[in-house]
Amino acid sequence: MVVDFHSHIYPEKIAAKAVVSTEAFYTIPARGRGTPEDLAAAGRKGGIDRFVVFSAAAVPAQVVTINSYIASVCAVRENTGRAGADKAGGPAFTGFGTLHPDMENPGGEIERIVGLGLRGIKFHPDMQKFNIDDERMMKIYALLEGNLPVIFHTGDYRYTYSHPARLAPVLDAFPRLTVIAAHFGGWSLFDLALEYFRERRCYFDISSSIPYLGRRRAEELIRIYGAERMLFGSDYPIWDPGECLKEFLELKLSSAEQERILSGTALEILDN
Ligand SMILES: [Zn+2]
Repeated sequence: MVVDFHSHIYPEKIAAKAVVSTEAFYTIPARGRGTPEDLAAAGRKGGIDRFVVFSAAAVPAQVVTINSYIASVCAVRENTGRAGADKAGGPAFTGFGTLHPDMENPGGEIERIVGLGLRGIKFHPDMQKFNIDDERMMKIYALLEGNLPVIFHTGDYRYTYSHPARLAPVLDAFPRLTVIAAHFGGWSLFDLALEYFRERRCYFDISSSIPYLGRRRAEELIRIYGAERMLFGSDYPIWDPGECLKEFLELKLSSAEQERILSGTALEILDN
């Protein structure tokens, strides 16, 4: 069983534009088209059983539309239960919702998100342009604590919105908030992240990281944090999930560690 905990999807009519702006943001060419159909095909080809899918709202007005869209895609691709495949025999999709610090009624939208069957929230502070430790976010974290898991994009040497130093105090202030810090806790700040998160309670995904870390350092960081805190993820459409899986399987890890990272940690979070 393989769960890809980090993938972005967009409606067909805006996918091409969204992919181009993601490429511009990260200055690398994307491997995928960014649509649910393309992701499902990549999963079938690459051996992925389940994707956690999301999309971040750049402005408050997009929140409701995006959450309804993600839920509608997941309804077709069966977002509940532990079984791997949807009715069409492809990978299953589990949706995470989006919120924005400037939105009017986050509490109401969180209730709607739960009602829609979405299973967590994705924040991209660098693209949504807010600091993780922003005052406006504190009431949102309070609403999410003990309710829905949260995955943050973390780390970018060009900005400080998602700096590990901003996430650390949030972890301290909300001890029951389930947090996944993407990209080993800090893209391009991998070793710095270690200083903030080694002793704190949070999970990590390994997406968009191994090409920058190299195999040896990726293995070391997984050992330092512990496989029980790590999740496999591709960051589709930037990367191809099947190629990411191959890259992950080339790491020198035990089969117990592999199993934990490919599905064990994910099921622990999603089943809670
Ligand atoms: Zn992401």
